[in-house]
Amino acid sequence: MTVVAISKQKGLDVERVRADFPVLNQKISGHPLVYLDNGASTQKPSHVIDTIKYFYEHDNSNVHRGIHTLSQRATDRFEGARKTVQHFINAESEAEIIFTSGTTESINLVAHSFVRSSFAAGDEVLISAMEHHSNIVPWQLLEQQIGLKLKVIPINDKGELIYEEFEKLLSEKTKLLAITQLSNALGTITPLKKMIDAAHAVGAKVLVDGAQAIAHAEVDVQALDCDFYAFSGHKIFSPTGVGVLYGKRALLDAMPPYKGGGDMIKVVSFSGTEFNELPYKFEAGTPNIAGVVGLAAGLDYVSEIGINVIAEYEHELLEYATEKMLAIEGLRIIGTAAEKASIISFEIDGIHASDLGTLLDSQGVAIRVGHHCAMPVMEFFGVSATTRASLAFYNNKADIDALVAAVNKAVSMLR
Ligand code: PMP
Repeated sequence: MTVVAISKQKGLDVERVRADFPVLNQKISGHPLVYLDNGASTQKPSHVIDTIKYFYEHDNSNVHRGIHTLSQRATDRFEGARKTVQHFINAESEAEIIFTSGTTESINLVAHSFVRSSFAAGDEVLISAMEHHSNIVPWQLLEQQIGLKLKVIPINDKGELIYEEFEKLLSEKTKLLAITQLSNALGTITPLKKMIDAAHAVGAKVLVDGAQAIAHAEVDVQALDCDFYAFSGHKIFSPTGVGVLYGKRALLDAMPPYKGGGDMIKVVSFSGTEFNELPYKFEAGTPNIAGVVGLAAGLDYVSEIGINVIAEYEHELLEYATEKMLAIEGLRIIGTAAEKASIISFEIDGIHASDLGTLLDSQGVAIRVGHHCAMPVMEFFGVSATTRASLAFYNNKADIDALVAAVNKAVSMLR
């Protein structure tokens, strides 16, 4: 890999980073692309694209199945990727890394294996009011199916979780805290370690939705002491259709399989089937092999640059962007938490978000408009949609200036 985009002393060399992302080098409607929709999905560096291409050209085969050379190579790369993930999030063992299709599947795995098999009617699951739908709906389904009780930690006008309310909701009935580390709609960073410790103190387990945080902050699952951690490859410069569920080994060991099929068994017989060991017990069927290989390449790329170098750079860029955006007349930022990362959600007086989004696109600026799969957040702030600019470490100040200019132009056309 030729990642030369940093000097640990000097911080991040964003121009060199940008050269690693071929998709950025294009025009949209005659304007240079300004990609500010990283919260929805991130772009892929050449290292990831080349790794996937190489895999299909040289090593492609099914995994864990054949004795032929290609199958062994594919298996080695697949299992090597598991080690890469293990080290990236500092899990104790590679057996604790389950490959899934993404955060959504990882959360559903916990819901339908861990929760469904061990929770009783009346047991409580605690989430926050700023969760993505994928960390709300699985619990609502289980409310209907097994009678668990879903409780919601409120947020304040800045979009911060109200910690005292969380403490009030915690009780011996709380069996699971399922909480985002970084809100995709607001950019709020939650006080995770404190919450995990408090949840453990009442005997609850903790599932962290790391979909947004994984690309913006160092994640150490042992230091956090979370019981489960979920994330998606596509949010961290890696392919779509692949994700991870980390779980503490003792919990995963005790959990029943979530899907049945090939690879998750040791022996199948009509008189009884014996399940495979971890992590294979949870990986039924042919996995997204090239996706997993690509994920390892994406994580290697990020590690080479350094997640803390990235976080520091993005923090400065967010401050720059916030100041510039606030100078736009009639613009209100939704989500002004003291602890924030990578996201600016906003609305502008008298202007519909989708009209704004269309006009920004016509100037080459890609942002997202809508409810961001967090409708309760929109309801709380009394809006049906926001416009969201979400940053990655390949964005630069010129991108922010282009966004501001495009918004000003759109506003003058719409008013
Ligand atoms: N949680 C959060 C906070 C997210 O931002 C997203 C994706 N927008 C998800 C969960 C779901 O991720 P995926 O669609 O990759 O499963």
